Amino acid sequence: MNAASSSNAAPEGAQSGPACGPGAGPAARRLAARPAYPAPPQPVVQPLPRHAHAVGGLVPFSTVDWPGQLAAVVFISGCPWRCHYCHNTELQTRAARYDWREMRAFLETRKGLLDAVVFSGGEPLSEPRLPQMIRDVRRMGYRVGLHTAGIYPLRLADIMRHLDWVGLDIKADSQGYDDITGRRDSERPAQACLAQLLSAGRDFECRITWHPDWLDETRLLALARELARRGVRRFAVQGARRSPDSPPVRNLSAQAEALMRQWFQEFDYR
Ligand code: SF4
Repeated sequence: MNAASSSNAAPEGAQSGPACGPGAGPAARRLAARPAYPAPPQPVVQPLPRHAHAVGGLVPFSTVDWPGQLAAVVFISGCPWRCHYCHNTELQTRAARYDWREMRAFLETRKGLLDAVVFSGGEPLSEPRLPQMIRDVRRMGYRVGLHTAGIYPLRLADIMRHLDWVGLDIKADSQGYDDITGRRDSERPAQACLAQLLSAGRDFECRITWHPDWLDETRLLALARELARRGVRRFAVQGARRSPDSPPVRNLSAQAEALMRQWFQEFDYR
């Protein structure tokens, strides 16, 4: 499926006459027959009530937030941790910046073009209405993915059977966890979430945002080896960046990368 081109091109194609060039043919005619799609919802002007769904953002189309899936990403505002490298500080405080009914209506228009909806954050499990939001998008036929730092194991257990894929952040080894998160005893819930994912047999990826000043390569390799020993099959190292669009501050050595490629069924350095 190539919803990337479909979702972006359909409105223009539908209104600008017959398709031509490489796009012509049955697929192009199907695109041309589609109605124009509404623009993604905008942030609300008036603040929503405190009990409203804490939706903080939307990426209408992503190929990277769930490897192999074309997904919309719904960002939940609210996170009790304070990682010093957090790029989403505006999503740390609970706030409803988008109307979930508008977002649901928008997602209805993307049915058949996207495979999945990923809930990210902030920490999506901080939203008490997440189970209902998951039901909403499941009813539309979407697969459901979750990005989590593993802060709420009981909440994860409640929704586990409704998830198709999870991206679990591993912040550091035991020695470095609290230094990253700014919270005491923060490794414990994350390890509980990892244990649940391993025993539930869910498709999931562990990933770490890595900088050698926080965790040198020797410790990173020890952590990765332990994850592999416990049964983690997919692992990703995300090089720490000054901003989301800049290159990694420091590169992983070729030797470390080669070792992790051996240990995991899938390893990604990004
Ligand atoms: S867990 Fe994620 S959202 Fe929360 S502070 Fe850390 S990096 Fe930011």
